[in-house]
Amino acid sequence: MPRYEYRCRSCGDTFELSRPMAESAAPAVCPVGHDDTVKLLSAVAVGGSAKSGPAAPSGGGGGCCGGGCCG
Ligand SMILES: [Zn+2]
Repeated sequence: MPRYEYRCRSCGDTFELSRPMAESAAPAVCPVGHDDTVKLLSAVAVGGSAKSGPAAPSGGGGGCCGGGCCG
């Protein structure tokens, strides 16, 4: 399961969550409990070992967020 990095805009903390790729854009709650968080484009190991999913895109995860048009 890929890991995504988020930053809380309420307390400024950064944290990681392991969640399915389908939920990567879902709202995340920081460890303290704030929900005003933003997803960071972190260089998590996506290309090293192919894991679940036969059609894993080699780019930015498909959809709009790969190109940075919704940031
Ligand atoms: Zn917070």
